Amino acid sequence: MDIRYRGVSGNILDAVGDTPLIEIEGIYAKLEFLNPSGSIKARIAKYMIERAEEEGLLKPGDTIVEATSGNTGNALSMVAAVKGYRMLVVMPEGLSSERVAISRAYGADVLFCGNFHVDQALERARELGRQPGFFFPGQFESEWNVEENRLILGPEILAQLPPGRLPDALVLGVGTGGTLVGVGQAFREANPGVRLFAMEPSESRTILCGEIASHTIEGISDGFIPGIFQRNAALVNDVLSVSSEDAVEAMRHLARHHGLLCGPSSGAHLLAAKRVRERFPELKTVVTAFCDEGEKYLHDYFMPGQEAAATPPQFG
Ligand code: PMP
Repeated sequence: MDIRYRGVSGNILDAVGDTPLIEIEGIYAKLEFLNPSGSIKARIAKYMIERAEEEGLLKPGDTIVEATSGNTGNALSMVAAVKGYRMLVVMPEGLSSERVAISRAYGADVLFCGNFHVDQALERARELGRQPGFFFPGQFESEWNVEENRLILGPEILAQLPPGRLPDALVLGVGTGGTLVGVGQAFREANPGVRLFAMEPSESRTILCGEIASHTIEGISDGFIPGIFQRNAALVNDVLSVSSEDAVEAMRHLARHHGLLCGPSSGAHLLAAKRVRERFPELKTVVTAFCDEGEKYLHDYFMPGQEAAATPPQFG
């Protein structure tokens, strides 16, 4: 047996990134739910905080305040716990209760503002962030969010694709838009012809039609078009929609048939990516990501009796 010394890690933040890329049903899926704190957001949480430290915007004893539909709050709470900052998560009510419990478990305080959509929480967090001793990363606007995805996640995926393969398409929902835009930029550099598809819930087609309505694909379509997406909308080739019900069904399918326990946005990403493959057969290498883990959705979708429910519970 060849056991090579691989080194001792400093802390949990060293385990962020380097997630597997798998091929599933003809789609390449980056398993981002395997990041510490259970989502893709561990990447930008670590990156935005370390950049703020470098720029002198964060000092020992400061409080980080951020608006979030949950995953960024969980991720920032983890980073704050490791680095010794106080954390205030501002989030709407009506999201899975586990999200709240997880941030609190990391020692964060949670302030509720609004219902399901994040716009009111965003106003409040921005306001609090202006006070002395507070730092507001501002994930929906932050160039550091885009930068992480362009400099780290995008190149990671490019290096994992089979030799000689370049991405033909990237399909992702839009929370902040940081993943679609940043990874999209990295992909465009490698293959200028790559097509970028934004996905949104069919109940709330904000990008396509300006609709703002309730849906159950938590983590995307938070009730407004974020600054990152607005600034970079020209990069995106097309927008497609997936219904909440189909997203939840596909999420259950991922667990049962592939052993991947992830959240509804992962189900929606798989469906949307497969539709792209069907509609555009010339796009052979279609990439997406499974963004958050499924344990925090057990109560909402996986308990006995709920599997038969025709319509998932509605928030909003
Ligand atoms: N899926 C889930 C579960 C998320 O939490 C998020 C981010 N809120 C996304 C997808 C979308 O990521 P981004 O913010 O980069 O658009």
